[in-house]
Amino acid sequence: MKYDKFHIGKKLLMKKRLFIAIFLWLMTISLMLSIVALGKGQKVLKPELGNPEVHQLNENILAVTGLYHTAIDKGFTTNAGIIFTSGSVIFIDSGQTLASAKFLWETAVKYMKDIEKTCLILTHHHSDHVFGMRIFRAKGAQVIAHIGVAEELRGDKGYYKKFIADRMGWDSKKADQILGHVIIYPPDKKIEQDTVLNIDGDEIHLLVTPGYVPDEISVYHPSSKTLFAGDTVYEGSPLATQFGGPEAWKIWIEHLERLRKLDIINIVPGHGKICSKSEIDRNISFLKEKLKNK
Ligand SMILES: [Zn+2]
Repeated sequence: MKYDKFHIGKKLLMKKRLFIAIFLWLMTISLMLSIVALGKGQKVLKPELGNPEVHQLNENILAVTGLYHTAIDKGFTTNAGIIFTSGSVIFIDSGQTLASAKFLWETAVKYMKDIEKTCLILTHHHSDHVFGMRIFRAKGAQVIAHIGVAEELRGDKGYYKKFIADRMGWDSKKADQILGHVIIYPPDKKIEQDTVLNIDGDEIHLLVTPGYVPDEISVYHPSSKTLFAGDTVYEGSPLATQFGGPEAWKIWIEHLERLRKLDIINIVPGHGKICSKSEIDRNISFLKEKLKNK
């Protein structure tokens, strides 16, 4: 009997241990699942913002990568830049959504000290670079772009937003939810050729670099050796060549050759990671190869 009791007791103890082990295992699994759900939940909370990352390239330069793009599901995101001078803040591109633009503004505010003037430079007319412009306009920013941007965006009346929504298969509610209340304004200052802006004694070079699209400009800040390349330079991905044919690609190569001669520490491309001059070489090779196969 004693022996049996001992055995029964041992069996009960084993069952108890097994029960505790299963219980702990289930707890671990549910904790892991809730962490994953929380992670996903955070993304679902603001899908219109993407996953922005702020990079301080030097004391006067910020680059923001990872902002929302309509191709974010494929890992493609949008970038923008911010230059601070002694009395102004200059934004390069506005993001594709109002949420992105707000993020850019709020990021800049954290670094601002008595900023008086604000300016927004658009690298070209595509939605992923201009849709957030309303936010900067509301803060009194002067909008500067190539004259071609003015032509493309003139008299928009919501057409461009609808075009993007239709292409994505969104109804107007979904378009409002993601893109926000987009209002397109024509630029205040239009440039046709390379232009040097002198803002509070700091030079900002607007370089007309067509090829990707005819109204493309690249923004070079010599004192920090930073190039905000817009879509003239693609980082880590094939170049989007569908907006022009072989003639445009040849022009694109010429301008990449020109940019390559600049003294550059950082290139902030319109998409992808912050990169260096070697990426210009890769872009040139890509286009040359494309021309060879035509
Ligand atoms: Zn783009």
